Amino acid sequence: MIINFWGNLKELLRPPFRGLTSVDHELSREASVKDIVESFGVPHTEVGRLTVGGHDVHFSHPGSNDDRVDVYPLCPPVDILTPTLLRPKPLASITFAVDVNVGKLASLLRMAGFDTFYQNYISDPELVEVAVQEGRIALSKDKNILKRKELVYGYLVREIYPEKQLAEVIHLFGIKEQLKPLSRCMRCNGLLQTVAKEQIIEQLEPLTKKYYHSFRQCQCCRKIYWSGSHREKMLRLLRVL
Ligand SMILES: [Zn+2]
Repeated sequence: MIINFWGNLKELLRPPFRGLTSVDHELSREASVKDIVESFGVPHTEVGRLTVGGHDVHFSHPGSNDDRVDVYPLCPPVDILTPTLLRPKPLASITFAVDVNVGKLASLLRMAGFDTFYQNYISDPELVEVAVQEGRIALSKDKNILKRKELVYGYLVREIYPEKQLAEVIHLFGIKEQLKPLSRCMRCNGLLQTVAKEQIIEQLEPLTKKYYHSFRQCQCCRKIYWSGSHREKMLRLLRVL
């Protein structure tokens, strides 16, 4: 069978195929198109469209040596709220489950207001379980986690710097309009609510007490935020976006 990997997918192919668009493959046993594609290094979560002989097929389509398979990348904006042939069960909303290898991205997603699950020291199966159970998009730099068959929605983060990773994710899912900066706690993902200065004044450092007047507090962990505490990060973020 001939398999064509389009767009940026060819960069994900395992050596010695990396960078090739077209791969000639001899099937030695029965396998689904999904398993064949993944055996070359491309996680199924990265596939936006799959055709055999020019016809759209599902991941479970059985491979055959006479086939010509075309594998297309995710094409922004990826709409995860609408069913597709490859992913018939859409998600209810855009939320994320972030792997430890992109931990800073988790904080930035929260800072941008997106509901983001993140935990240090979580195993791959546990992270995938959270993503599946809670209907979240898994974000990782680890191809193996994205190959797990129970996972439906995921994305292999390419960028190295956290701010660029945030821009990458926002661009891919077309969610720039949904940014709600300073609505969510960067530490625990809880929602922030405006709080009167008098209520929290005891907890403020002298300079903060002196120079700032409007505050927000996390409804879960009670962490206090004020305009100055995130100003630099927010400005840098907005510049990138
Ligand atoms: Zn919190």
